[in-house]
Amino acid sequence: MTNNHTISSIRILDPATVNQIAAGEVVERPASVVKELVENAIDAGARSIRIDILSSAEEIASIRILDDGCGMSHIDALLAFTPHATSKITRIDDLLHIHTLGFRGEALASIAAVSRVTLTTRPHGTGVVAGTKVVVEGGKIKDTGDTGAPEGTMVLVEDLFFNTPARKKFQKSKNTEISHIHALLEGICLAHPGISFRLFTDQKEQLVTDRSPYILDTIARIFGSAVVKELIPVSMSLPFIKISGYISRPSLSRKDPSRMMIAINQRYVSSPAITRAIKDGYGTLLPKERFPVSFLSLAIDTELVDVNVHPAKKLVRLSWENEIVQAICESVTTALLSHDLIPAIRPPSHLSGVEPGKEDETKAGIHYDLTTPASYGVSESTHAGTVTTDRQLRQTELTTGVVPLAAKLPVMEVIGQFGGIYILATMESDELVLIDQHAAHERILYEQVIGRTGGDHRSQELIVPVVLHRTAREAAVLLDLLPALAKEGFVLEEFGRDTFLVRAIPVVLGKLEDTTMIDEIVSDLVSEETARPVNNRERITRIIACRGAIKAGTVCTKEQCQRIVNQIRYAKNPFTCPHGRPTMVRFSRADLDTMFKRT
Ligand code: ADP
Ligand code: MG
Repeated sequence: MTNNHTISSIRILDPATVNQIAAGEVVERPASVVKELVENAIDAGARSIRIDILSSAEEIASIRILDDGCGMSHIDALLAFTPHATSKITRIDDLLHIHTLGFRGEALASIAAVSRVTLTTRPHGTGVVAGTKVVVEGGKIKDTGDTGAPEGTMVLVEDLFFNTPARKKFQKSKNTEISHIHALLEGICLAHPGISFRLFTDQKEQLVTDRSPYILDTIARIFGSAVVKELIPVSMSLPFIKISGYISRPSLSRKDPSRMMIAINQRYVSSPAITRAIKDGYGTLLPKERFPVSFLSLAIDTELVDVNVHPAKKLVRLSWENEIVQAICESVTTALLSHDLIPAIRPPSHLSGVEPGKEDETKAGIHYDLTTPASYGVSESTHAGTVTTDRQLRQTELTTGVVPLAAKLPVMEVIGQFGGIYILATMESDELVLIDQHAAHERILYEQVIGRTGGDHRSQELIVPVVLHRTAREAAVLLDLLPALAKEGFVLEEFGRDTFLVRAIPVVLGKLEDTTMIDEIVSDLVSEETARPVNNRERITRIIACRGAIKAGTVCTKEQCQRIVNQIRYAKNPFTCPHGRPTMVRFSRADLDTMFKRT
């Protein structure tokens, strides 16, 4: 039996390396203590980590982290509290290849400087029988000796900030701190599905994950099976990055990006650039003010990831950021387009026993209102459709089918139209699909216009040019847009102060029956706020699509409805309109049976 009490793997970093390390106070709040200690446990190879928080009436009284990792020898247990003592790197060069969560050797020293820490540890698998106990208070070693201890490490932190009253005063309420800890651990759990985590606050179990090779199990434990049902897998492998994980169907979205979890090399990070790339990958599948739920794990060459930019290592700097961001955006788009995204209507939770959606997640904004009687009837569709509708349909039919495309959706058979808006159809005999005729046709038209290449935008001259007056501000905006508009077939020319002459409009807008349409289009153009910068072509195309598509409220014949349905099957993205609203929703036979309590 070797005496491991004398073997050390912790070294004190030399001053040059210390200077290279992004210095900073890592302990600003209780959650930072949890973060550092849990990361140490992960680095120690723990398979199971338990976190216990005890609180008094108004503050967190103690934090205890217990792991079954490699543990420390007697000498390392003492060294660990020395500033810049670490077993994880030795030289400056090592900063280029960080494979561990920690590397600065600062955390234990900083935590012990502002609290009372009791460390109990015994090295794993070395045959050392006695463990070591070290008590450090305000940075001073108070007690040390042998003790009975299981293999692994236990760190108990009490009296946090007892000697730094200013920092203590800045602490938020106890519940805020606990919710921070909770959120932090969610991210860590997701980045490490292979470790079992258990969080208890005041002996109450808060968060539990099981060891699993599958992140989906972790997601299910934390967010519930209702969320898992809405996820689709993402996977892409390039020489410099491997992307894997899950993203939500557009039917599950949130008003903020807080549930977009990103792990880079198993480090849970926040990266505005990556968050944006994921969101961009949805393109028009989501409205601009909504965010998906996503759990992406990125394996990136360690040389391309600099974690040494922020004391808490929450932010990272990426070399090749453009390539990385583009790969992520593409992987998201590919995943979305290869899945069937029609929102399924599930029975209300009280009927099916499905747990209700948490917080503000929406299921495609669909609400049941069983109390309001239907105010529309299903039309028999014998009404002769208007000439305009036929022309609008022909417009989109003529240009599709040039290239034989694969249909994205199975054949649907129209039953009828409801309320002059919704087309009812069956799909594969066991599903009922409701299609928003305007949204669907708008999508078809949009793809047609955006798919055309420059110069291919036929325009039609107006016999009598339309005169437009705008305010000075609007005129200025419009003036900037004239070249972009001309490319899409709108020919406008300046005609005196804040006045324009419209000479020609795109053919897709059809015969101009009413000049107010032009006025509306221009109003859309100059008013659309630019919260998310969309390029001019995109904006103009969306507006053309919206204005040129069959309106809601237009009664269509069954044959016309069938034509819309046939066309939407071939859209590249048949699931949402260009603004991100759904084009269709469906009820499966089984769901209907549940709603009617036939099961
Ligand atoms: P760093 O993690 O940056 O190395 P820390 O101050 O967090 O610095 O920890 C110092 C050293 O103490 C680590 O490098 C590691 O060798 C040891 N250590 C800390 N926590 C544990 C643990 N839970 N299990 C085993 N060793 C640990
Ligand atoms: Mg550490």
